[in-house]
Amino acid sequence: MSFSVFNRHKELETAKSVEFDLVIIGGGITGAGIALDAASRGMSVALFEKQDFSAGTSSRSTKLIHGGLRYLKQGEFALVREVGLERAIVHKNATHLVIPEKMIIPLIEGGTFGKWATSFGLWVYDKLANVKDEDKRQMLTKEETLRKEPLLKDDIVLGSGYYAEYRTDDARLTIEIMKSAHSFGALCFNYAECTGFTYQDKKVNGITIQDHLQGISCNIKAKTIINAAGPWVDEVRSKDNLLKGKRLHLTKGIHLVIPHEKFPVTQSIYFDVPDGRMIFAIPRAEVTYIGTTDTDYHAQKEEPNIILQDVEYLLNAVKPLFPSIKLQKEDIISSWSGLRPLIHEEGKSASELSRKDEIFISDSGLISIAGGKLTGYRKMAQKAVDKASQHLTERHHLAFKKCMTEKINLSGNIFKNSDEVNSYIEKLSSDFSLSPQESTRLVHTYGANASSILTDAKAMDKEWANALIHAEVSHCITLEYCVHLVDFFRFRTGMLYFYPQHIEKLLAPALKAFHSITGCDDDTLSTEKQLVMEAMQKVLEFD
Ligand code: FAD
Repeated sequence: MSFSVFNRHKELETAKSVEFDLVIIGGGITGAGIALDAASRGMSVALFEKQDFSAGTSSRSTKLIHGGLRYLKQGEFALVREVGLERAIVHKNATHLVIPEKMIIPLIEGGTFGKWATSFGLWVYDKLANVKDEDKRQMLTKEETLRKEPLLKDDIVLGSGYYAEYRTDDARLTIEIMKSAHSFGALCFNYAECTGFTYQDKKVNGITIQDHLQGISCNIKAKTIINAAGPWVDEVRSKDNLLKGKRLHLTKGIHLVIPHEKFPVTQSIYFDVPDGRMIFAIPRAEVTYIGTTDTDYHAQKEEPNIILQDVEYLLNAVKPLFPSIKLQKEDIISSWSGLRPLIHEEGKSASELSRKDEIFISDSGLISIAGGKLTGYRKMAQKAVDKASQHLTERHHLAFKKCMTEKINLSGNIFKNSDEVNSYIEKLSSDFSLSPQESTRLVHTYGANASSILTDAKAMDKEWANALIHAEVSHCITLEYCVHLVDFFRFRTGMLYFYPQHIEKLLAPALKAFHSITGCDDDTLSTEKQLVMEAMQKVLEFD
């Protein structure tokens, strides 16, 4: 069955009538990774997400698949090694979506790292992650650095480190993993919230869900349950038992999106700011985004706000190194804010907390997993599913295969390397008379699935831009479980962040497409429109 909104009702009826080997709470990257790992080992799996897939932290990160260079400074060698090695695997499994991205770290007078510390740090970084020769770090002279990035302030730049990372779209990565999990038989539901647990002999044997689309509540039976609720992990744990042992510590990070012409960096830069932190400036499509901050957070978690102080912090951070760039609040065209679900450590500040993941098992048998990074999702999933598998063997005498996700290509990836992705972009460009930008956007979003979207668009008797948006909306509803149009703009395509200026023009044809595909009534359509308008407003609201 395809991963279609139109199959949701039927799949939920099935879910109510069976007992799953594993039920997962939370549809961010961790939950999606667990669903794929478990389903590919042969477990029967259901996943429940209270918002849309990836709506929590997994659409609000810096969108890098990276080893976390900064964690070397904190002596976290094992973590850097694990996520560093994972980078290459995530790139191999989703080559169209995890794109090599060279970074520059400028060396500046009075900066955090001197030349030797940077050179040594990047050498260790490459070594831990087993980076191939052609991608190993290079130390650039002042002249070479300014040639790569002419916007840098020439009288304070002494040189730079030039090294390899990857960029991605976190929400797309989550949805491609979810689609792959579904293709292995996992039933994955968005807008279905876990509101409690059921028990037998004091052990969890199911969850209660509130289906926010049909307005019904029901029980789902499970032999094991994993709580992968990210920043909500403690909230879910406390529905099961009193919170014991370690707890989460949430820190907020924001990103600001500026039109590329206002901050025309030619490449990604990771640079010092006066307070000793480091931030990224990343050019992408028609924008440059800057981030991030790291501050303690205690308020509502669904839509963490952006405060003016954080906006000013990031805009001011750009000034010392890029004197010709004069950014103002009015230049911001989009933004996002996310919460890191970190494990609390007494006496440590937000940026000192480890990014390690951890598993907690409650007296009732509920397995919870938190912490970690987007980059390390596959390993996190493996650890959690190993625990579930052990439980299923010990208590239910069931045996499952070992983890095999290292070898699973995600949906949309038919490519062996980035050269093949680039050739495919060129081929689509020529086959469908697309601009290179359009073709790149489509392939970096949908991978090889872009071809069927384009074929569908070509067969329509519509103006090309309207036909393409119609085909994309249709693809996302019928093959990517996209319930609301706002989720198409936010999570399925990232247009709200990377192409916000285009949404106004695309909204009318997108609504038309939504109407004709779903057959919804006028009231529903006007609510859908309202949700998109609110989201467009929200990314420009600062408290
Ligand atoms: P989430 O994505 O938050 O998923 C948990 C889900 O559970 C949510 O969608 C939520 O709605 C759902 N949920 C909660 N309660 C319930 C319930 N009762 N019933 C059903 N569902 C429920 N990592 C990197 O590798 N690279 C980066 O560049 C990077 N940058 C970052 C920048 C920032 C600012 C932040 C905040 C994090 C960054 N990270 C990065 C870390 C990374 O984004 C997170 O580690 C990861 O996304 C966490 O995923 P998750 O699935 O555990 O949590």
